[in-house]
Amino acid sequence: MNDPANRFATQVKSTLQFKKLLQEQFGMAEFRPGQEAVLDALSTRKAALAVFPTGGGKSLCYQLPALAFEGVTLVVSPLIALMKDQIDFLTGRGINAARLDSSLPAEESRAVGGQLRAGTLKLLYVAPERFNNERFLESLKRVKVALFAIDEAHCISEWGHNFRPDYLKLAETAKALRVERVLALTATATPAVVEDICSGFGIPRECAFVTGFYRSNLNLFVSPVRAEERDALLLERLRTRAPGPAIVYVTLQKTAERVAADLEQAGFPARPYHAGMETEERTQVQEWWMASDRNIVVATIAFGMGIDKANVRYVYHYNLPKSLESYSQEIGRAGRDGAPSCVELLASPEDVPILENFAYGDTPTQSALDGLASELREMNAEFDVSLYDLSARYDVRPLVLRTALTYLELQGVLRQGTPFYAGYRVRTLRPAEEIFAQFDAERARFLRDLFAFAKKGRVWYSVNPADAAKALGQEHGRIVRALEYLEEQGSVELQAADLRHRYTRLRPIEDQSALVAGLVLRFDRREKQEVARVRQVMDLVAHDGCQTNELVRYFGEARSEPCGHCTHCRTGQAQKLPPLRKLPPLPADLDVALFQNMRAQYPSALGNPRQAARFLCGLSSPALTKTKLSRHQLFGALAERRFGEVLDWCSRVS
Ligand code: ADP
Repeated sequence: MNDPANRFATQVKSTLQFKKLLQEQFGMAEFRPGQEAVLDALSTRKAALAVFPTGGGKSLCYQLPALAFEGVTLVVSPLIALMKDQIDFLTGRGINAARLDSSLPAEESRAVGGQLRAGTLKLLYVAPERFNNERFLESLKRVKVALFAIDEAHCISEWGHNFRPDYLKLAETAKALRVERVLALTATATPAVVEDICSGFGIPRECAFVTGFYRSNLNLFVSPVRAEERDALLLERLRTRAPGPAIVYVTLQKTAERVAADLEQAGFPARPYHAGMETEERTQVQEWWMASDRNIVVATIAFGMGIDKANVRYVYHYNLPKSLESYSQEIGRAGRDGAPSCVELLASPEDVPILENFAYGDTPTQSALDGLASELREMNAEFDVSLYDLSARYDVRPLVLRTALTYLELQGVLRQGTPFYAGYRVRTLRPAEEIFAQFDAERARFLRDLFAFAKKGRVWYSVNPADAAKALGQEHGRIVRALEYLEEQGSVELQAADLRHRYTRLRPIEDQSALVAGLVLRFDRREKQEVARVRQVMDLVAHDGCQTNELVRYFGEARSEPCGHCTHCRTGQAQKLPPLRKLPPLPADLDVALFQNMRAQYPSALGNPRQAARFLCGLSSPALTKTKLSRHQLFGALAERRFGEVLDWCSRVS
């Protein structure tokens, strides 16, 4: 109340007051759809959910309250790097906003922490992982959190398309911190996801506002096509339609390369864009495309985040999108300027297995979960682990491992603490002997021993001070001081390494098999859901009715009038997908002898049928990367087969 920056006498703000702020602080005349309702709910009910499409103006829904209410507004976002522009925008208007993320130099983080504790910060942006940091949580307990805003809130829901384990814990955190108001925001949420967000964060159902998925300027076309006829169809479309900025979405990096080359060959200004390209090259392609009114980028989903080009006239899906959520986000990049734009989905049923298989690739084997559970059971009640090591040991991708550990947290088995770096990476900047030579004999010997003990890579040495102390019979502190001294001198470059995660086991694991069975069930449910998403895309293609309405209905928006500009409205009939070609039964033309030899040779990477099936379907895993088997000729040999069929076959022959 005695905050001098707070110009309002009461804590309940009327929308009139918000409107004044909108005009005075941001120079905007009117609210966009949904904004006013959200602000009103935040004032009167202290909770709201905003489901607005990208570009709909979600950020204003926490920026205005941040100015109006006393205390700090926390904005949680997994895409914190993209928040930089927003922070610059706010600080440019004299509003004290900052972010805390792991890339920030220690001094800057300390300064932000100081401002937070002093109560001078109005908005603080953090990544969800930040709440594993005990010191951060402690500082928050001592300040007033006026608003807890959770961006990308659909990540909380296992029904959502991008479930993030850290998000499930956020709901608990919001309660523990006794924040005054909660605002969840997302661009995509089905009614089931809205339900999950509301119940997770305690938001009354009537405070959820879903707006504006229907875009009257988007012509939504679907064209069923056989995979081998797709190139010709795309070329024909590009030739017959007026030139304009276009995105062609594909699933795989190699497809991006190939299609871009083909289009260029045919005389179109096309370039590829995917995560496998160097950052510099990607930036170049992005700038080349942004600056033009006719260039075509052939991209994987790596393209689009944070890209704001108003006059995109075409979005083609060369491959099927993996869910209606992805589809809606990707086509939402067309026609932001409101001018008529065309989005077209070239639907080949041949794409289905590849998409489904991504879902299967993320289900850990039962033996991996078993191994993990017994390792956790044997640990002391307080322990720390390297997720990297665990992930390699059980051949589970890091994100999947984190999901498993979060499931255990939610079941009250574990609690995560602040992660820490247990080691260093050291690179000498002068010849080692020259460095040693500046010290007296005892110190020089100590350093020589230390470097001899350190693990030498191509350029970097890795040193774990605790292990080195034990091996060399030295004090831990001496080792750390020596390395820091060498760094100060400019003799070496030092980096923190070996990130370890701290956990407390809250109760003994008595019934390990029940625990594992519970995990298997949850992963199984997740897998089925992901597979169902691909089905929903196919259903939209073949839908017998207005497809635009069907798509917005999926996101909870009801429209009764047909749009008049989708494929169904234009043709008056449902589209039929070409039947899938019948493939010969497995093993078909797979070189079985070679494959069995490999399995015998690499039991840790291919021993389990699920591991073998992943390999044949071209789904990478830590063990396949480590053994370089993901570069083997048989990797992905059955990529176009259904995972279930391949898994069956692998189980039979093992
Ligand atoms: P979202 O987070 O929903 O994708 P943003 O919050 O980034 O969207 O808003 C998109 C753009 O619209 C921003 O440039 C923002 O300044 C602008 N904007 C938001 N609300 C309004 C408004 N009421 N009037 C004018 N411009 C607005």
